[in-house]
Amino acid sequence: MTLKPLLSAKQARENLAEIEPKYSPQEALVEAERCLYCFDAPCIMACPTGIDIPGFIKKIASGNLTGSARTILQANPLGASCARVCPTSALCEGGCVMQDRDEKPIKIGRLQRYATDHVFDNKIKVLTAPAKKTGKKIAVLGGGPAGLGCAAELAQLGHAVTIFEKKPKAGGLNTYGIAMYKLTPETSLAEVALVKSLGVEIRTGVEVGKDVTVAQLEKQYDAIFVGFGLGRTYRLGIPGEDLPEVYEALDFIELLHTRPLDKVPVGKRVAVIGCGNTAIDAVTQAKRLGATDATIIYRRGEADMPAYPYEYELAKKDGCSFLFHALPVEVVAEKGHMAGLKLARTKINAQGRVEVIKGSETVENFDMVIKALGQEPQAKLMQKLFPKVNLDKDGTVVRDAATGQTSVKHVFAGGDCVNGGREVVNAVAEGKKAARGIHKFLLGEEVAGPVQGTRLGVKGKPSGSGFDQPVRIPELEAEYYAKKK
Ligand code: SF4
Repeated sequence: MTLKPLLSAKQARENLAEIEPKYSPQEALVEAERCLYCFDAPCIMACPTGIDIPGFIKKIASGNLTGSARTILQANPLGASCARVCPTSALCEGGCVMQDRDEKPIKIGRLQRYATDHVFDNKIKVLTAPAKKTGKKIAVLGGGPAGLGCAAELAQLGHAVTIFEKKPKAGGLNTYGIAMYKLTPETSLAEVALVKSLGVEIRTGVEVGKDVTVAQLEKQYDAIFVGFGLGRTYRLGIPGEDLPEVYEALDFIELLHTRPLDKVPVGKRVAVIGCGNTAIDAVTQAKRLGATDATIIYRRGEADMPAYPYEYELAKKDGCSFLFHALPVEVVAEKGHMAGLKLARTKINAQGRVEVIKGSETVENFDMVIKALGQEPQAKLMQKLFPKVNLDKDGTVVRDAATGQTSVKHVFAGGDCVNGGREVVNAVAEGKKAARGIHKFLLGEEVAGPVQGTRLGVKGKPSGSGFDQPVRIPELEAEYYAKKK
């Protein structure tokens, strides 16, 4: 049966509205004032981009929202997206000392969103590129979080940067692949505009290897950053996998970002294969689009699931189901369409491997399958475009962890194509790190400040809480120096 949209536009919009609305000014102030502005703040150490968290929270408490957003965005130009999608309980909020006092951690993510929304909503420009340029040109391949993080940093260091992005819009997964109720494409595209405002050229709809060759790029640019991300979802390798009712999770999520919500087809009984965070995004969105049954199918048990506990709780709260120790063995076909899903039950053997229980197969009445099995590395693409860049045995790009430099000296890499798929914030941090590696490669200069963290700190050290060393507020400095003249 051909899949159809199940809800009206109004109902779908309501169901997919943001789950955590923006703080009111009063709520933000109360939360900001709870912060202890710790010395050697553990929350900073837990942030891959090293945002000066107590520094930005203090600025919220003192009413300097623009300064607060500047602190965030200088360290992480995708700070508004990260405020919404970071697993904060496993990162900054997980490190918050309030927990040692048996109190709830400071809601860092929500405060970060509050500050960054202020500058995006009011179109306040907080990042600038220097007027004096280095004369160096860098090509950034891929306009996702790693590419944008790299490009923003390079532009702020005075380099000319061009991003080449295959899709019609930049932003990568932030624009196309995250559950709508966490992050809308508008937020991601506002960050793309911020990077563009630094003078970065973004060429969308351009496929490297097809529309432009690497040899052409090497002629025109002094260095190349590869931030391709990952490839297609792994295949199930079972009969019926290519039926029209079988989707890849990212393709399904992309439909919600590229079509009106009442035009997104969904099954009434949806099976999501896999149990990571993307699987949770897919199952909750299927449920919120009107599926009466949206079930995660996972070959291992609850304790093995890779999804974060809060994602698991969210899916259960949404009414999604979980079928553990089950493995799809066939998508049953009838007249070219899906007529059910054959599942076998599994057990974990003494070696810790999944074993199918013989004779346990049953056909379940699902009418849609969403595959969320993780994505393949871009090994083939890398071999085609950069045959001299070393890959590891998994097909991910081998690079120097401190500089992002690959085995080809003018080619740098970062993000999912290097780390195999981590958080948005890790990709931004790797892009930024590679930007500094490129800067050193081209000009022989170290960039002052921590590799991961704000450049306003003391060289080589995290910027701290704002008490252990001065927090610099550019607009106040400008005022101070203007008075001194
Ligand atoms: Fe504030 Fe960070 Fe200290 Fe928590 S750990 S109280 S967020 S400075």
